[in-house]
Amino acid sequence: MIGTLESEEFFLNEAGREALLSDMGGRFLTPIKVHLIMESTGKKLVGRAMVSTNLALSCGRCLEEYEFPLSFELNLAAAEILAYEDNGEMVLIEDEQADIMPRIEEEIFSLIPLNPLCSQGCQGLCPFCGINKNVQSCSCEKNDIDPRWQKLKELKME
Ligand SMILES: [Zn+2]
Ligand SMILES: [Zn+2]
Repeated sequence: MIGTLESEEFFLNEAGREALLSDMGGRFLTPIKVHLIMESTGKKLVGRAMVSTNLALSCGRCLEEYEFPLSFELNLAAAEILAYEDNGEMVLIEDEQADIMPRIEEEIFSLIPLNPLCSQGCQGLCPFCGINKNVQSCSCEKNDIDPRWQKLKELKME
């Protein structure tokens, strides 16, 4: 058995830890799906994970929640194969499955934008009345009630 190249597939469906996203006002809409291919080179086990999940993030402009689908591939560090059992099962130095989720969480975290936007053209909230300008309109800006703008206008006149 030793020395042959073998591969094995696993499918994991793990609930995402809410604590990972709660600080930024996000949450998992679907579990984290992992299609894992572990390959044995005889002495080592290398893994490739195809990961997909669906998050809800809150938009930095209008504060509305929006869907943020994620999918990525991850190469996993090799685990050493200590021995093979009589039935062909591999005995690993570390439990490779236990190490996968932290790596995946790290990757998910790094793929979340620093300033999440529901769309590039998000109008955001009106700074005067707080209305979500994507769904409603107001007449605040036309009236120029903010004194800061008034000052800017005066400067331009000079
Ligand atoms: Zn938005
Ligand atoms: Zn307004």
